[in-house]
Amino acid sequence: MPRRRPKPSEPRTRPFARLWREWLRPSWKTAAFAFAMMIIVALASAGYTKLIQEVMNSFEDSDFSVIWWGPLGVIILTAMKGLADYYRETSSNRFVTRMEADLQKQMFRQLVGSDLARLATEAPAGLAARFSSDITLISGAVRGAMGGLSGILIMVFSFAAMLTIDVPLTVAMILIFGIAVLPVNLIGSRLKKLSRKTQAEISSMTSEVTEGLSGIRMARTYQLEEPLSENAASVFERLFGLKNKQNQWSARVSPLMETLAGGAVAVLLLVVGIRMSHGTISIADFTGLLTGLGVASGPARRLGSTYAQMQQGAGALERVFMLFDAKNTIVDGSETIARAKGGIRFEDVQFAYPNGHVALSDFTLDIPAGTRTAFVGRSGAGKSTVFNLLPRLYDPTGGRVLLDGHDLRDLTLTSLREQIAVVSQDSILLSASVAQNIGFGRRSASRGEIEAAARDAAADGFISALPDGYETRVSPSAGQFSGGERQRLSIARAILRDAPVLLLDEPTSALDAESEAAIRGALDRLAAGRTTLVIAHRLATILDADHIVVMDRGRIVEQGTHRELLEHGGLYADLYALQFAGA
Ligand code: ADP
Repeated sequence: MPRRRPKPSEPRTRPFARLWREWLRPSWKTAAFAFAMMIIVALASAGYTKLIQEVMNSFEDSDFSVIWWGPLGVIILTAMKGLADYYRETSSNRFVTRMEADLQKQMFRQLVGSDLARLATEAPAGLAARFSSDITLISGAVRGAMGGLSGILIMVFSFAAMLTIDVPLTVAMILIFGIAVLPVNLIGSRLKKLSRKTQAEISSMTSEVTEGLSGIRMARTYQLEEPLSENAASVFERLFGLKNKQNQWSARVSPLMETLAGGAVAVLLLVVGIRMSHGTISIADFTGLLTGLGVASGPARRLGSTYAQMQQGAGALERVFMLFDAKNTIVDGSETIARAKGGIRFEDVQFAYPNGHVALSDFTLDIPAGTRTAFVGRSGAGKSTVFNLLPRLYDPTGGRVLLDGHDLRDLTLTSLREQIAVVSQDSILLSASVAQNIGFGRRSASRGEIEAAARDAAADGFISALPDGYETRVSPSAGQFSGGERQRLSIARAILRDAPVLLLDEPTSALDAESEAAIRGALDRLAAGRTTLVIAHRLATILDADHIVVMDRGRIVEQGTHRELLEHGGLYADLYALQFAGA
């Protein structure tokens, strides 16, 4: 089926202009130094052409002083060129790697700060791939552009040297090289299109591989290795096809330029032959021109692939800038509150996830400050969604949520989020020490406060038993803590945060009796005096709650105390019999 291809666009220079303005200009000194080195390289290269002509002239005139100044000149010129080339290379590379690191920092900052709704549209693995693949393309383009500039300088200076030898012949050479621009341009735009497809495939390849490996336990148990490998294999094959095509096209550039250079030499030989027979050109001039042509044709050959490289880089730059320019919808309000009392009100809240799935409807609920509210309902009823709205991970699509009478959207994100502590089993641990991980609850906490919080959370015991105690490094992925231990670290963090509103997501899986008792005690101490919302999975929790909210398919279907709800004999009574009574 023939697919419509996007029209080849103009060579895009605008992203590069922006790259210069925002990311490269700060290191303009490095760039200027590299440019100065390029000029020296070009001068030395062109000087070579002149030197050869002069040497040949001296031979023709039987002036044998050339025996000493000829070799000396060659040594000086090549040493000068070598040294300048070294500094050009290292400074260009520093310039590019500086830009790489700056772009990557900003990309990460942008990603961790972006709306959850937007993050959900791309697989984490695909996003991660951008850090390497897009950045590699961009720096390849910048490196290529600098190489290209150096090449252009060499060509300009060499042609200038050749012009001093013979104007008409040099002009003819320049014209022949000019012809090459057309096919090279064509190849460049073909390569750009191919590269766009390749990037998309690289993203899905990274997803296939990381997702396949991260679910390996499940995959092995269900013996999914074969389908997993087949899925991945088809991506690898598509990538193979694309890269092959890409290689074919880019391999055409060099021979093309080579042939043209050959053509130029042929024209040179022909015209020189004719003119020599008329005695209007000397062997020395001819050798000088030939040398100049040789010096200029190397960079000219590379210019073609530089152009292709820049086209690929432009695509990558556009993707990266799109990421930088994406506007968050969850933004700061202007009001601040020092410390909330903790009264919460959901006012006719509607919420649909970005995929359109309606998760809350007609949700109205008053939670007085300092009370404990338990949320009960089947999985998928919308309990976690309620929790997502409070720290504004998402904003309601209708209605509003209020804290102490302030619409959450009117508050600054910092002052809102400072009012909230979260305890859940999947509490995130970062690669830092145990003490630092608890300390994330409140950045200003002292070591003493951190240890006190850990004691209150009944976490002191297992932390002290770790090889380096509080200094033990946490490895985020290597599950070195049990569910109960993670829960207690999370409680310690929340104790330290000392926020008026507490969101508590109870672990669904049973903990051993000892951890259970330790955690219950810690949670009771933590919840005292705070507005606590808890997604309840344990009998004791619902019995302790001031108010129980029963949810079903995004709506509140019943609410009241345990006794009232049981007497009512509705969904709660069913759930109770099913989930809690046996516990
Ligand atoms: P609960 O916590 O009660 O198990 P959730 O609040 O997690 O329920 O989910 C409510 C509904 O919203 C479910 O049907 C779930 O599939 C859907 N849902 C949850 N998170 C997302 C999301 N990020 N995108 C789309 N739908 C979601």
